[in-house]
Amino acid sequence: MAETSLSRTRRARRMNAELARIHPDAHCELDFRTPLELTVATILSAQTTDKMVNSVTPTLFARYPTAADYAGADPAEMEALLTPTGFFRAKTRSVIGLGQALVERYGGEVPAKLADLVTLPGIGRKTANVVLGNAFGIPGITADTHFQRLVRRWAWTAETDPVKIEHAVGPLIPRMEWTILSHRVIFHGRRVCHARKPACGACALATWCPSYGDGPVDRDVAAKLIKGPDSAARARAAALGLPVRTPDELAELAMEQSA
Ligand code: SF4
Repeated sequence: MAETSLSRTRRARRMNAELARIHPDAHCELDFRTPLELTVATILSAQTTDKMVNSVTPTLFARYPTAADYAGADPAEMEALLTPTGFFRAKTRSVIGLGQALVERYGGEVPAKLADLVTLPGIGRKTANVVLGNAFGIPGITADTHFQRLVRRWAWTAETDPVKIEHAVGPLIPRMEWTILSHRVIFHGRRVCHARKPACGACALATWCPSYGDGPVDRDVAAKLIKGPDSAARARAAALGLPVRTPDELAELAMEQSA
């Protein structure tokens, strides 16, 4: 029998609650202190990892503390700083263009409206939602590649266009949770539900996931696929027959084992 929208909503909310339990540390993995820093970091994150971006931004943010500093930057100097992030010429153009647009149109400040943000160089809807949600506390869904893959696997939506995905998922989850939901889903996509081999046999969402079995269901095999800072502890829990656990439970388990 086809799933009704009510039961899909209930299932999505149950999965969101479980995601909250297993990824209580979910957060924006880009380092920033101000809306301007987050906007620049998000532009730089295209086609590279947050870790790579975090390795260049301390120097970049110290060298260019304001929008006016970006606006007046020497392109060659900035390109040299941005080289490790890839696509450094395009990113340099976007960041300098961003600085110029902010100075010319917004008094050097990052605007807190989606309609304004998407008019700025290098900023699409996804980047705008990251900035609104994490720098201004305005709820937004970040439909990045992890988010798109996971919500389709979970049959929360069949849409493939990121904007349509955003509009389909929004009504399933309370608006005030949109930003943290995005972080939880991205955390799960990075650590457990991988594109090629999802760790189904070690996944705490298996009960509600219509794609259970897309990856190995054998516990030991699945446990080895888990990634992230606490991957060893999570893999150990999975191998013992416990689904992916919270950090507190993992710490307890580690203490029990060493006792
Ligand atoms: S059961 Fe498998 S496909 Fe479903 S969320 Fe978990 S890892 Fe992903």
